[in-house]
Amino acid sequence: MKKGKKLYEGKAKVIFATNVKNLVIQHFKDDATAFNNKKKAKINGKGVLNNRISEHILLNLSQIGIKNHFVKRLNMREQLVKLVDIIPIEFIVRNIATGSLTKRLGIEDGTVLDEPLLEYCLKDDKLGDPLIAKEHIYVFKWATKKEIDKIEKCLLRINDFMIGMFRGINIKLVDFKVEFGRYKNNGKNEIILADEISPDTCRLWDAKSEKKLDKDRFRNNLGNLIEAYQDVARRLGILYEQANITPIKYMKPHSLKFKKTK
Ligand code: UDP
Repeated sequence: MKKGKKLYEGKAKVIFATNVKNLVIQHFKDDATAFNNKKKAKINGKGVLNNRISEHILLNLSQIGIKNHFVKRLNMREQLVKLVDIIPIEFIVRNIATGSLTKRLGIEDGTVLDEPLLEYCLKDDKLGDPLIAKEHIYVFKWATKKEIDKIEKCLLRINDFMIGMFRGINIKLVDFKVEFGRYKNNGKNEIILADEISPDTCRLWDAKSEKKLDKDRFRNNLGNLIEAYQDVARRLGILYEQANITPIKYMKPHSLKFKKTK
């Protein structure tokens, strides 16, 4: 398989063409952005960790029947994925109120929600990804009712699975954002989960201390982002410990070692 030209460059990832039909390469950069691109930085090793964490979560979701774009890992920063036509909506699932929800509605930070709250934002950087109602999706034909019904079922299953997966490693899944795309399969459009699921796109709090293990460390200048992402990877069992050689927090990102997937 050959890597082709750049097809698209986003804030944290680049998509490259390949010579294989319907497959592209997703490359994870070290760039971090927040507050609609107003805050930017390069954080050494973030892309490597997100590549691996997203692979782990998407592979697990495949096993419970959530179809997604992940095909295989190519190297530390790249994965082969199915080429999809992205639905221009950011689907947000919340279990605990924080971030924009608390600011928008004056809800107290940390309020545990009785049931998951689904929110929709239009994927448009120029407009600052505005919150929209489901009706906007239908009126402006960004997706059909049938597609949204399917996606909502998927969102709740993804949430259930991820709450359990993270609970098992003493992490609270506070909220997350996912994207879906249309994949052409034998002439038919199939809706599949795409993009990434990583500490860049989830809020993850340590179950006991409520320490933030996600991109809020960058948004709120808390520092030690790489250490927090490594902690998530280590708890997920995908980061080799070399603690007796070099304490993990002093390891340079390029020297990180990941376990091989079966
Ligand atoms: N999120 C994301 N990309 C975005 C906006 C939000 O991945 O462009 C994620 C974010 O990391 C969090 C969840 O979606 O896990 C809900 O984010 P919120 O709306 O609170 O965003 P904020 O404006 O506070 O970053």
